[in-house]
Amino acid sequence: MAKVIFVTGGAGFIGSALLRHLFQATDYTLVNIDKLTYAADLAALADIEASPRYYFSQTDICDRAALDSLFQQFQPDAVMHLAAESHVDRSITGPADFINTNIIGTYTLLEASRAYLQHAPAVVKANFRFQHISTDEVFGDLAGSNDLFTENTPYAPSSPYSASKAASDHLVRAWHRTYNLPILITNCSNNYGPYQNREKLIPLMITKALAGEPMPVYGNGEQIRDWLFVEDHARALLTVLTTGKVGETYNIGGHNEIKNLDVVNAICTLLDELAPTKNSTLKTQHSKLITHVTDRPGHDQRYAIDTSKIQRELGWQPQESFASGLRKTVLWYLKQHALTNGRG
Ligand code: NAD
Repeated sequence: MAKVIFVTGGAGFIGSALLRHLFQATDYTLVNIDKLTYAADLAALADIEASPRYYFSQTDICDRAALDSLFQQFQPDAVMHLAAESHVDRSITGPADFINTNIIGTYTLLEASRAYLQHAPAVVKANFRFQHISTDEVFGDLAGSNDLFTENTPYAPSSPYSASKAASDHLVRAWHRTYNLPILITNCSNNYGPYQNREKLIPLMITKALAGEPMPVYGNGEQIRDWLFVEDHARALLTVLTTGKVGETYNIGGHNEIKNLDVVNAICTLLDELAPTKNSTLKTQHSKLITHVTDRPGHDQRYAIDTSKIQRELGWQPQESFASGLRKTVLWYLKQHALTNGRG
């Protein structure tokens, strides 16, 4: 029998990429559990929504009764938990949703999984996995050091977002240690690719540039992030689900440590080449739109991630280079822009 997999947050940026990947790479039945916040985009699932292998439930992961009935109805073999509030800036102006969804929601999902397993058939009990998808931001700031985050780096989150994700990671580990829930955790660096919400760095810069508006770079733009193409992340998550060792954590990253300002300049260079514009100054000089704005409070200066464990133990490594992934991403947003502006 084909497996049944719950994907929470499946209408979000990474969740939808994961669902598209699972749909194409496996015969699993996929149940997307998503509250449909502002960050959700069901258009990202257009290719799979009509399939009998795909179900969608508009459910808040804080709603225990709704979760219990989904567990009873579908009897899942695994939960891949991505539902979260995910934008650092929003967590600074309004942390409450982050505490609710990322902490209370994860707790509720853990408890619903535990209750389900208590009465599940032995074969489900033996093979069930609760996979928690988290971020490298839980490890804090590597400012001024050449170190990399490993799976053993102590947690030191800086923002309400990363603190809420750190709390959820701790809950997941505690449910394994205390209740023997068969968990897996992944901590991944910054993702980019199609269908990312326009509030995040790369889509924000592309859409501002296409509108001919200032491209707002926080502070001096020297902050360093590691970037991973979202489809590589989706492959990594399936690899961990199927071959990861219960109770373990795996770091995932793209081996692309880049300063934010260099990312923005790379977008400008691609737009100079690819973006159709009647404005002859902009056509070759999108970088003129770059505008430095007041830095984010508590802004981490550097994240960098050691992915040798997942590479060594599970044989996963990223396939997309940053240059080709960024080009694909810019082309995708250009197509969306053309469709929206009636040139599609
Ligand atoms: P996203 O904001 O694009 O999508 C989040 C999804 O979760 C949305 O569809 C939203 O409707 C849903 N959601 C929010 N609250 C919910 C609730 N209470 N109940 C049910 N659904 C709810 O986020 P993303 O960028 O796709 O990130 C997905 C996961 O991956 C998050 O857990 C995030 O912490 C983690 N992560 C993201 C990145 C990144 O670069 N984007 C990197 C590492 C880890």
